[in-house]
Amino acid sequence: MTDRKTELAANLAQVEERIASACAAAGRERSDVTLIVVTKTYPASDVRLLHELGVRHVAENRDQDAAPKAAACADLDLSWHFVGQLQTNKVRSVASYADTVQSVDRARLIASLSTAAVRAERELGCLIQVALDAESGERGERGGVAPGGIGELAALLEKAPGLRLDGLMTVAPLAGGYAGRQRAAFERLLELSSRLRADHPAANMVSAGMSADLEEAVAAGATHVRVGTAVLGDRPRLG
Ligand SMILES: *Cc1c(COP(=O)(O)O)cnc(C)c1O
Repeated sequence: MTDRKTELAANLAQVEERIASACAAAGRERSDVTLIVVTKTYPASDVRLLHELGVRHVAENRDQDAAPKAAACADLDLSWHFVGQLQTNKVRSVASYADTVQSVDRARLIASLSTAAVRAERELGCLIQVALDAESGERGERGGVAPGGIGELAALLEKAPGLRLDGLMTVAPLAGGYAGRQRAAFERLLELSSRLRADHPAANMVSAGMSADLEEAVAAGATHVRVGTAVLGDRPRLG
């Protein structure tokens, strides 16, 4: 193996061990939790190595970087997740390679995603990004809709051609009442998820937890964790 592949394999094994332990501690099956590796700022060659090591879900947060990377890896059976704040002028590009958009947080974005998905003849899975620190009616600083806005977006997604409502996503808030309380934040997300599933039973994805707090997310019941630095190494800048 190349040095980089050896390094990625070791990091992946460590993350795998953390997820497995967290599942065991929570009395959950390991197969209940899907690892999504966040490859932002890292090259397509790393995505290839990760694929060789068994990774099947990758995530990106900027279309400028993601579009060429996805094109360079189009021959691989990978599921691409878009997890960044999404401007409507990038939607057409994102809809051409993303399988899941995890950062749906406003009505206008749903309308553009729907148009783009239909035009591309693709079905996009959509997660509503929840900002647990946002006041009702507002969006969070890192994107996301306040909890009170979930129902309205879910209803729009359910009706939108080309889109499929898959569940909820959050990033643990850095400020507000949940700052430093990841477990409580993720438990709140799970509560919101069970409320959503009462009306939309198929929307059972819960995406929460990153390198620093994946254990708390698994304990709370997350179905998907998004891990970047613990697999790929420290990013040069916050990306
Ligand atoms: C970068 C990023 C991650 C991964 O964060 P790490 O701390 O590197 O594991 C997860 N989710 C989102 C939305 C991100 O932007």
